[in-house]
Amino acid sequence: MDLGIKGRKALVCGASKGLGRGCAEALAAEGVDVIIVARNAELLEQTAAQLRQRYAVQVIAVVADITTEAGRALALQACPSPDILVNNAGGPPPGDFRNWERDDWIKALDANMLSPIALIKSTVDGMMARGFGRIVNITSSAVKSPIDILGLSNGARSGLTGFVAGIARKTVAHNVTINNLLPGPFDTDRLQSAILAGATASGKNVEQIRAERMAQNPAGRFGTAEEFGAMCAFLCSRHASFMSGQNVLMDGGAYPGTF
Ligand code: NAP
Repeated sequence: MDLGIKGRKALVCGASKGLGRGCAEALAAEGVDVIIVARNAELLEQTAAQLRQRYAVQVIAVVADITTEAGRALALQACPSPDILVNNAGGPPPGDFRNWERDDWIKALDANMLSPIALIKSTVDGMMARGFGRIVNITSSAVKSPIDILGLSNGARSGLTGFVAGIARKTVAHNVTINNLLPGPFDTDRLQSAILAGATASGKNVEQIRAERMAQNPAGRFGTAEEFGAMCAFLCSRHASFMSGQNVLMDGGAYPGTF
């Protein structure tokens, strides 16, 4: 299927590795120019070089912390009028809510709620004026099925989800859609760190925990960044213009409900 977005321009945040990179790569494969953002310059440049080598598109790397105003300004300077915006940043740490102070909450809100909202605010009116826009927010399956130790994530991402539910109905008549992609367990560095932490805490070895976690999932495995990116690219496609304000869960069937 031709996704019909060749020649478009995408700002993809948190894109040097993992799910964000999966999205950037799938978009580049469709002929979309990508502006990729992350904090670690070396890895980001490596990723940019690989994308340039593989795809005949323009790839711009912006070293920035997207959770700060200065970082977002740098990203928007490199890409003031994106056709596609993928919002993504690292997730907050796990823990017990009794130990979290106001600062911990503010950091989580900044990263997983207020930064995406700020980027939507900076880009959505231009998209509507031009008659095309796709915004995809990478959130988490924890929005639908909360994970107790990830209270910071459950809370902050639910705030973004509520905001998006309202605004997404105001933009779609202008061919600008806003949807959320909810990852369950995907095989990225973030998941590997969580497995390592679990191994340290339980005394089990890493491979044993990986195998147990995969076996717990109905698919019997973790998802891949390629699968995630493909779904993101579809949501950004010409064909997805009648879909806005949705929460698309990708979790191998782990969520047990009928709907
Ligand atoms: P990852 O493999 O750790 O990759 C995160 C990417 O985002 C990296 O490129 C990282 O580069 C960049 N990044 C992080 N913080 C940033 C910031 N402040 N500014 C700019 N770039 C930033 O993580 P992932 O697994 O792809 O996860 C992506 C998101 O999905 C996270 O919010 C995570 O919590 C959520 N999620 C993941 C899973 C999963 O199973 N993988 C499940 C549920 C939810 P730098 O560190 O160099 O900035």
